[in-house]
Amino acid sequence: MSASPYPHLLAPLDLGFTTLANRVLMGSMHTGLEDGRKHFDAMAAYFAERARGGVGLIVTGGFAPNIEGWAKPFAGTLSTGGAARRHQGITRAVHAEGGKIAMQILHTGRYGYQPLCVAPSRIQSPISPFTPRELSARGVERQIRAFVRCAKLAREAGYDGVEVMGSEGYFINQFLVTHTNRRTDEWGGDYSQRMRLPVEIVSRVREAVGADFIIIYRLSMLDLIPDGSTWAEAVQLGKAIAQAGATIINTGIGWHEARIPTIATSVPRGAFAWVTKKMRDELRAAGITTPLVTSNRINTPEVADRLLGDGCADMVSLARPLLADADFVAKARADRAADINTCIACNQACLDHTFANKLSSCLVNPRACHETTLTIAPATERRRYAVVGAGPAGLATATTLAERGHAVDLFESADRIGGQFNMAKRIPGKEEFAETLRYFARRIETTGVRLHLNRRVQADELKAGGYAAVILATGVTARDPKIPGQDGPNVLSYIDVLLHAKPVGPRVAVIGAGGIGFDVAEFLVTPPGHSPTLNLQEWLAEWGVTDPATVRGGVVRAQPAPPARQVTLLQRKAGKLGKGLGKTTGWIHRAALQMKQVEMIGGVNYERIGPEGLFVTYGEQRKDGQIIPCDTVVLCAGQEPLRELQAPLAAAGLTVHLIGGADEAAELDAKRAIDQGIRLAARL
Ligand code: FAD
Ligand code: NAP
Ligand code: SF4
Repeated sequence: MSASPYPHLLAPLDLGFTTLANRVLMGSMHTGLEDGRKHFDAMAAYFAERARGGVGLIVTGGFAPNIEGWAKPFAGTLSTGGAARRHQGITRAVHAEGGKIAMQILHTGRYGYQPLCVAPSRIQSPISPFTPRELSARGVERQIRAFVRCAKLAREAGYDGVEVMGSEGYFINQFLVTHTNRRTDEWGGDYSQRMRLPVEIVSRVREAVGADFIIIYRLSMLDLIPDGSTWAEAVQLGKAIAQAGATIINTGIGWHEARIPTIATSVPRGAFAWVTKKMRDELRAAGITTPLVTSNRINTPEVADRLLGDGCADMVSLARPLLADADFVAKARADRAADINTCIACNQACLDHTFANKLSSCLVNPRACHETTLTIAPATERRRYAVVGAGPAGLATATTLAERGHAVDLFESADRIGGQFNMAKRIPGKEEFAETLRYFARRIETTGVRLHLNRRVQADELKAGGYAAVILATGVTARDPKIPGQDGPNVLSYIDVLLHAKPVGPRVAVIGAGGIGFDVAEFLVTPPGHSPTLNLQEWLAEWGVTDPATVRGGVVRAQPAPPARQVTLLQRKAGKLGKGLGKTTGWIHRAALQMKQVEMIGGVNYERIGPEGLFVTYGEQRKDGQIIPCDTVVLCAGQEPLRELQAPLAAAGLTVHLIGGADEAAELDAKRAIDQGIRLAARL
């Protein structure tokens, strides 16, 4: 038998009363499937697919133990026998695939986006408009009993365990620090009193569920808020939780109100594994052998295996990577890592959807959470298709059509696949986008798509090809903003800068502050080859993260490297720039540019460009004319569809489908392009 390709990752983990098949824990993610009864079958199919893919232990999204713990009104709750029976469909489906599953108990406390929320003290959080009710001592007791009841019901529902959510600034975490706990009774005061709540919960849950039931405790190891726990406190709690009966300790990094990114694509891979290692070393030194799970930005088997090999943890938590690819573990086991559809940590279809009250999915895998409605079935009849354009839309369509058994020719005018992702991947902090191109290149090989690079194909060629239909995925062209003077030598488009590496001067005005304007600004302020995402120590310094043993909460003053250029970012709309950026990542882009002293100006009219710079006025009256002195102006003024082949193809009588940017450029992103492509390919 050949040696395991990832010996640490794929080793079983003996928990005494049960054994996990490997070291992969599917981290809890709120997908929206939890809320309301109508999604239970979909949730069963979603988890069953991950169990079939070989995950060692799945953790569900959070279920509240009572209504006070709701994340939002009518959030998923497990507090009755009837609700437990509904969960049985999930546990049976997972067990039928040979998997194991624990249910997360999530009490959001003052983070609850609902009027019934409760907390240790009456202190509103910055991320909810509702001020929590301060619990009486009896009220605290009622919450503990709700956790215990919830865990017992989870056992009745057939779960293999529960995860007690004790981190990210939720209810339990709120008791631990004086930032949110000002109580003077037995649940407040010094640390030994403040930490009583989690210890009581874990020990009483253990008593109620018996010895042979998994209890995972999610421990906040690094709060990333100024008055968060000290390291000594976190260690004291870790030891007490292990002694109270936790089977596994999972890592929590950062409260939700923290202003430091913890999972975005610009966070280095495995950026916080050192924190888990530090905790593990402390617990092992005290003779505690409870397995620890490390978490955040672990998205390849190589990284996971290395972190485990380095002794950072006993398991890794993969959450979004299992949305992106349900077969992550099976592919790693078969030594087929090249086939893994890597999570690029964009948050666009998962976390951003959750915050917009939409069902989650995945930008690179639109089937995620839609397993019962989006199926890729073998074609009943093999047909020939031409796909024109190998950007995200064309790649998704061509490879899905071929996977279904159709014969596919994919024509691309450039010398490589990827379309605009070839620019996106050059942005510092967006290096992960290259993974999607790697994945699609591999899919082209394995599905048998015939790829024709450097081919700007014409309508008559396509007509002669005898295709059942042509899919036009030709993307976009840059919008012409028609600014007087834009033909000057000091004016470039984002394509000139990102794709053709045209030289840019030291002072730059960027016209347009959409996703591309922000990305171009980030590119221009970063010295070439110095993306902090690729250098953990630089990234930690840039955001002000430090060893929690030296500073409470692990946060210090940010020390960003000086900007490579002086950049001014402009838009015509009045108001804050970057409003249209991702819900969970927009603030990161804005903060990153502010750290690089990028000046952001809204409400401008572009009057003209001259050798001395950009001349602007303000407001409808076009007042207060001013020169923004700069050496280079970069145009990022939006995009228009490119579909020059549509009319000739239609005239030639061919069936044409438009997808991605070729279909609609307004508010286009790769999420829509890939989703549209896969859905079309699934039904052709
Ligand atoms: P495109 O990617 O534009 O691909 C079209 C392809 O068709 C090109 O390869 C082109 O060469 C080819 N083509 C055109 N005409 C012909 C022809 N006649 N014959 C053959 N081939 C032809 N989106 C996100 O979701 N998240 C992000 O974070 C993000 N960041 C971005 C950052 C930058 C800097 C840029 C530029 C874009 C970013 N985008 C992002 C946008 C995303 O890349 C696009 O939405 C997506 O690429 C659109 O896909 P598409 O396949 O429709 O078009
Ligand atoms: P965009 O987001 O639509 O932004 C276009 C910008 O150009 C806006 O700031 C707009 O603001 C300005 N503009 C529009 N018409 C103009 C004109 N005639 N003259 C001057 N300025 C004009 O488009 P984009 O930045 O080109 O991005 C393209 C797509 O890629 C976007 O839809 C986006 O979703 C996607 N993308 C996403 C990300 C991400 O992080 N998720 C990153 C990059 C790109 P004013 O009209 O106010 O001037
Ligand atoms: Fe990962 Fe983006 Fe998919 Fe979310 S949407 S799972 S972050 S690739």
